[in-house]
Amino acid sequence: MASTDERPFPPGDYPVVVVGSGPGGLQTSYCLSRLGVEHAVLSADEEPGGMFRLYPIFQRLLSWSKPDAPAERGARAYEWFDHNSLLAEEAEHQALVPEFMDRTFMVPSRPEMEQGLAAFANRVPVSVRYSCRWEATRRDDDGRLVLTTSDGEYRCRAAVFAVGVTTPWKSPIPGIEQVPHYVECGDPPEYQGRRVFVVGKRNSAFEIADGLLPWARQVILGSPRPVQTTVIALSTVRVRYLQPYEDYGLGGGTFALDLAVERIERRGERWGVVGQGTTRPGPIDLEVDDVFAATGFSAPLLDLPALGVRTVAQGRIPALTPFWESAPGSGIYFAGNATQGAAGLRKHGVGASSAAVHGFRYNARVMAAHLAANHLGVRAPRERVERDRLVPYLLDEVSSAPELWAQKSYLARTVSEDGETEILPLAGWLDDPGGRSTAVAVEMNAAGEIYPAVYVANGGGVREILLPPHELNDFRGADYERELRAVL
Ligand SMILES: Cc1cc2nc3c(=O)[nH]c(=O)nc-3n(C[C@H](O)[C@H](O)[C@H](O)COP(=O)(O)OP(=O)(O)OC[C@H]3O[C@@H](n4cnc5c(N)ncnc54)[C@H](O)[C@@H]3O)c2cc1C
Repeated sequence: MASTDERPFPPGDYPVVVVGSGPGGLQTSYCLSRLGVEHAVLSADEEPGGMFRLYPIFQRLLSWSKPDAPAERGARAYEWFDHNSLLAEEAEHQALVPEFMDRTFMVPSRPEMEQGLAAFANRVPVSVRYSCRWEATRRDDDGRLVLTTSDGEYRCRAAVFAVGVTTPWKSPIPGIEQVPHYVECGDPPEYQGRRVFVVGKRNSAFEIADGLLPWARQVILGSPRPVQTTVIALSTVRVRYLQPYEDYGLGGGTFALDLAVERIERRGERWGVVGQGTTRPGPIDLEVDDVFAATGFSAPLLDLPALGVRTVAQGRIPALTPFWESAPGSGIYFAGNATQGAAGLRKHGVGASSAAVHGFRYNARVMAAHLAANHLGVRAPRERVERDRLVPYLLDEVSSAPELWAQKSYLARTVSEDGETEILPLAGWLDDPGGRSTAVAVEMNAAGEIYPAVYVANGGGVREILLPPHELNDFRGADYERELRAVL
């Protein structure tokens, strides 16, 4: 009897299997398709969009998309001004999120983001076998990975897990198990007139504080480490952070305490939050009406640790190579938010943007090429730069390449001795620069100054040369040309 299941990718053998239909899975599938790599995409969801079908709970993103910007929509340089759209080579598939924005804010609403992602999935199109849940994993004797799913078994040479980092996680504080997590925060009007404590002082904690500010009587946030307001002020998360912080600074009733919470306890109808001040030591005992755990999320790794996938951040995030593989040659790759498991160099403590779309969309493109080359023998076509064009080409890249701007000190433009050029993880290139070659990256120091960094490998060591900052971040002038020419 013919099957009535018309969904794509029935169980079977595929060169590659991608799990997830959030932005990470969709971007990976697109990039693999561009390389001509056959693959199946599976998702537990019923529709594309991943986490953005539900969150952020207060329905407004943190990451900007500017419908009008110094660069034309659809141009490569425009990607830097549109942090939310997925990447495509074809003009009609580029910059899709701004198309759905009503321009009330510079950051899209959750539904606008969801629409942009769905438009990408439908127009490209990206085929996905929806309502198919990956449940277990093993490795066959021939080295192939086998994914057991709700629909049957999938065999593959490499698997890409774009499963997100959205499983609610609570830090091990006695009593925290009794209070709701960020994902369980109800409608703001429910908190009218109440005194609310939020455990945590990062994005999700400030999102709750911001959402409750017009309703709650008082909001108090607490976590051990102080907020670096000067860094936040220049970052895209300021939209959510600074409003409650402004209220804190003006004595408007909100507090952001540096506090190590020791326990949370029921006190009749109310809650007691007990801990020790950190920046200003001393006991703190608060009585509040509601407590939220905004202590983070974890990646749903299921049984992957038993296959050798190691983790960081208290088991929440997979530990990854610079090319986002769990161990070199394992064929177990990650895409999307989980790519934060490859930390990069963190020069001056500046982290990568791999947990957000504008960072991991580039990781996906590099990872797809790496996977195709290393597991399937498919070599991605590479551009070539003529020697006499090298200096202006590199200066142009550090001035406007969205990959380098989004992933500072993390992704680099590399050029080999014979002029072949590609975007690579800086940490991966430094491990193996391949003889005489050059890499450039955009970097930022502790004072927030942005400048180009040049790395020159000469077959032995690697030299690092930092070029000076420019007030308009335009490194294409004659002085820069002279300096870079001298270096090269
Ligand atoms: C509260 C919050 C707010 C955020 N706001 C922003 C923002 O404003 N801008 C931004 O760029 N980033 C934001 N992020 C980061 C965000 O997680 C990522 O940008 C993005 O959603 C991650 O995409 P992803 O594809 O990795 O995972 P997700 O979007 O989480 O998608 C995961 C996919 O994997 C599937 N899946 C999971 N487990 C299985 C399984 N066992 N079997 C089959 N399928 C499975 C899911 O069904 C889903 O389709 C936010 C994160 C959080 C938690």
